[in-house]
Amino acid sequence: MPYSEAVDSRVLLRRLRDTLAESGGGQERLDSIVRLIADGLVADVCSVYLRREENWLELCATFGLKAESVHLTRLKVGQGLVGRIADSAEPINTRDAPATRGFRYMPETGEELFSSFLGVPIQRLGEVLGVLVVQNREAREYTDDEIYALEVIAMVLAEMAELGAFVGPGAMEIAAQHKLPFFVRGLVGQEGVAEGRVLLHEPQIVVSNPVSDDPTREYARLHAAIERLREEVDEMLAADYLTKSGEHRDVLQAYRMFAHDKGWVRRMEASIDSGLAAEVAVEKEQSATRARMSRIADPYLRERLHDLDDLSNRLLRLLGGMDAAAGREIPDDAILVARNIGPAELLDYGRKLKGVVLEEGSVGSHAAIVARALAIPLVIHAERITREAQNGDPILVDGDQAVVHLRPEDGVARAFRDKIEMLAGAQQAYAALRDRPATTRDGVTLQLYMNAGLMADLPSLPKCGALGVGLFRTELQFLIRSTVPKRADLAALYARVLDSAGEKPVTFRTLDIGSDKVLPYMKRQDEPNPALGWRAIRVGLDRPGIMRMQVQALLRGAHGRPLRIMFPFVAEAVEFELGREIVMKEIARELALGRPVSADVKIGAMLETPSLAFASARFFEMADFLSVGGNDLKQFFFAADRENELVRRRYDALSLSYLGFLEGIVARCAGHGTPVSFCGEDAGRPLEALAFAAVGFRQLSMRPASIGPVKALLRQVDLAEARGAIEAARFEGATTARPALEALLGRMGFVV
Ligand code: PEP
Ligand code: MG
Repeated sequence: MPYSEAVDSRVLLRRLRDTLAESGGGQERLDSIVRLIADGLVADVCSVYLRREENWLELCATFGLKAESVHLTRLKVGQGLVGRIADSAEPINTRDAPATRGFRYMPETGEELFSSFLGVPIQRLGEVLGVLVVQNREAREYTDDEIYALEVIAMVLAEMAELGAFVGPGAMEIAAQHKLPFFVRGLVGQEGVAEGRVLLHEPQIVVSNPVSDDPTREYARLHAAIERLREEVDEMLAADYLTKSGEHRDVLQAYRMFAHDKGWVRRMEASIDSGLAAEVAVEKEQSATRARMSRIADPYLRERLHDLDDLSNRLLRLLGGMDAAAGREIPDDAILVARNIGPAELLDYGRKLKGVVLEEGSVGSHAAIVARALAIPLVIHAERITREAQNGDPILVDGDQAVVHLRPEDGVARAFRDKIEMLAGAQQAYAALRDRPATTRDGVTLQLYMNAGLMADLPSLPKCGALGVGLFRTELQFLIRSTVPKRADLAALYARVLDSAGEKPVTFRTLDIGSDKVLPYMKRQDEPNPALGWRAIRVGLDRPGIMRMQVQALLRGAHGRPLRIMFPFVAEAVEFELGREIVMKEIARELALGRPVSADVKIGAMLETPSLAFASARFFEMADFLSVGGNDLKQFFFAADRENELVRRRYDALSLSYLGFLEGIVARCAGHGTPVSFCGEDAGRPLEALAFAAVGFRQLSMRPASIGPVKALLRQVDLAEARGAIEAARFEGATTARPALEALLGRMGFVV
């Protein structure tokens, strides 16, 4: 049989388009398509396998295999040659299929008669929707032209599937996938619940006509978009302060390099030559990038491929005539869905969002820090969410349980609304306690403070009834800029924070960067173990320029008012002494320059490493106050990475060994008269807060939303009883005090 020497994919595509334009149901269309492809490629067989459920492929149309096998033959992803293609998103081209690894004999199809096999993935934006296969009786290897033609056709099939072209009785309803409920369990980024509508950070482009008759026109469109893209990247690079994007300078340099990459442009031109519309040509490249991304383990290379992927998204937006996502109208009940997002971009959306769902991200990522500061629920690692979600879809986000319901069933939505209502009702009850003290039944008063990180947090201060800001994380202002912030800008911000706090104290923590928090303008250190690495005060002391500048900004922002400065992550007394010296020198300098400095500047340290609990008496006497950073302290106490989902929940903050350790810290502080507070996330959990109070803490600092629930519980308990329950658990040899405390509250009628 004569083979198609040079396949003209343009002719094939045109015929394909005409077939698709004909009326008829989805199955009819698929049947015509397989006939047409077999004819165009002079193949004995052409088959389309489509993904049914997550892991199954179904033979949905064939020319050449037994017709009875259609909709009966099913393969698992990874199984057989077809399954391997779906799994790897790579084509398979072989002259001897039965001898090829993975070949699986399917008697119902009559497949043993065919020796040659060429299969390509049908994929859209990296998601494999199915597999397109041609086969020949005789042993032959398919040419590059043929592979290319089949890939181009597969692209069009994927686009058409997205548009619902194959929906119809008996046919695979790919498009219907976007109508069914979708549930995903991710990881907790920030607690809280929200109901709303999907707002895609990168809206999907719908290509109404994937096949083009006019390559010249498509060329012109592609080149105009690339020109505009290059200008955009240059503008971003030229911008001093990147308000609209969080990209770092090195990322932008990589963007620029990719935007000028000749190979990238040439490959897209070739796709246009073969008859694809410009958008589909971009998507074809993007699919290849995503397939490569999934195979690469090296984080640096993955990041670069990520950049290239982002660039393709921008290009698609430009082709579709859309401007940057951030300029869009944001509906009232928007829940942002994105693969990942930078901190500045998230801040741009700001409090208009009710929640965020990310496909990637990490607990300590900049986006998570911002979401925490904005107090909006965040679920990360929500697999496939950007592919499943469409703009405007109803969505429920439960940041407490780390689950997301997209297009939920009525029953699920109702149960969810009940939960939201219950929480809202509880918030109202808490509001009534706002001006009441957190005094226990046996007369012990706890001082409750709030944690903050943005100017925008300050209005919560009077609303939540906190006595002040126990922890102001200052890194956000550094993270969201492309260059080191200016001293005057920081001073102005700190002044505004103090203005709006009024008489209430604010404890500013100096810059806590390093580990997961990498500044865009600082050279990234390749550290084997960043959480134990060059971070926080270690960076501050080794690069004192930034620390001095920040201290100056704090002193100037205070402008003679009392000030509280706290150093993060102090492991040894000497680090605190050195940091303190810097502050003292800056105070002296300010005074020498005639600027006002209050006599009441308090300098404290965060106790986040077990070593500091054993520091000399001199340290405890020198520190004006201490604050236990439980998030870090707990991870070092148990040697369990706070960002590693495999271990981060393994150890309980109510573990009796940990509570015993905390009790020791309180006792040492009491012995030296050093005020001590607890400001990690655990302080905001009512049962944990009660246990910390029972071991002696009198100051707790937490998210504003936690103050109500913590106060409500504290006001109804007898602290001596809680202490007794912990003691009893210890006496019985228990590991954790949780059951004992829960039982105590249960007896009092509380449900925890
Ligand atoms: C802590 O470690 O408990 C803390 C409050 O600091 P961060 O979470 O910012 O590391
Ligand atoms: Mg910390």
